Amino acid sequence: MNTAFFHSPRFLEHENGPNHPERPQRLEAIVKAVKEVGLWDALDHPEFEAAADIDLWTCHTQAHIERVKQLAQDGGGYLDGDTHVSPVSFEVATLGVGAAIAAVGAVMKGEAKNAFVAARPPGHHAESGREPNSPWGFCLFNTVAIAARVAQRDFGAQRVAILDFDVHHGNGTQEIFYSDPSVLFVSLHQSPLFPHTGTVGQRGAGEGIDKTINFPLPPGSSGAVYHRVWGQVGARVRDFKPDLILLSAGYDAHEADPLGGMKLTADDYGALIYDAKLWAEENCGGKLVAILEGGYNLDALASSVVMTLGVMNGQFLDELH
Ligand SMILES: [Zn+2]
Repeated sequence: MNTAFFHSPRFLEHENGPNHPERPQRLEAIVKAVKEVGLWDALDHPEFEAAADIDLWTCHTQAHIERVKQLAQDGGGYLDGDTHVSPVSFEVATLGVGAAIAAVGAVMKGEAKNAFVAARPPGHHAESGREPNSPWGFCLFNTVAIAARVAQRDFGAQRVAILDFDVHHGNGTQEIFYSDPSVLFVSLHQSPLFPHTGTVGQRGAGEGIDKTINFPLPPGSSGAVYHRVWGQVGARVRDFKPDLILLSAGYDAHEADPLGGMKLTADDYGALIYDAKLWAEENCGGKLVAILEGGYNLDALASSVVMTLGVMNGQFLDELH
């Protein structure tokens, strides 16, 4: 079995307008690099379809779903100053969510070794919609959260761990699972930085207490810092004993990223993925799905995703040629 790579040219059609960092070229750069190193043919490329409203309802209010749908139908508009809905965005975003659902299905059913979802727009800032003025941060629907819910609803996962290493805090994922003991949400993120949530004191509520774990890190944090914190994450994952591990895989903590101020390299991402893969093997038969979030320097993003895929598929990249 191979790593399954979920991608569609349709993911390029969502548009944020000129000079926006979250642009179609991000995925073009990833696909080009994956092909150039010879990884493309080593991966599986399953087909998938768009998520249905019933899937979106697992995490979002009907009012939020209708708002995105209506903005798209009306020819486009903004959820907030940074977050654009273009005419095709509802279709494209639900196709991305569908890719994540298919990825989770393939991994849970043992049809893929693990999976990577290269979709856009990203998702981890998208909250349920109960608070419509929350920060959307380029996100329309919370892909990783819906994937977790559908893994529980359709594929027999009881406990799902979501590990978020995007440089920004995953406020949407945190909000959706804040009181839920069946989903462990761990975030490593730069602080201070948008969306200015994710303090250590935000650790869940009710039955979900201590199932939200935040590691705010100062600007300039290096791979060594991440490595040390990641070790603590591993201990929490082992305690939790997940049936599936999802990664909110944002690459904007890379040293070249224009939005983040961290110092990670592609090799550092490889080390994070190596550990996550190990934890999945130890706890849940290797069931690991990475879902693309941020990452805005095209070369850094492409090389980091290539590193991720090489580690996930168990290939040393210098052996590929
Ligand atoms: Zn980000």
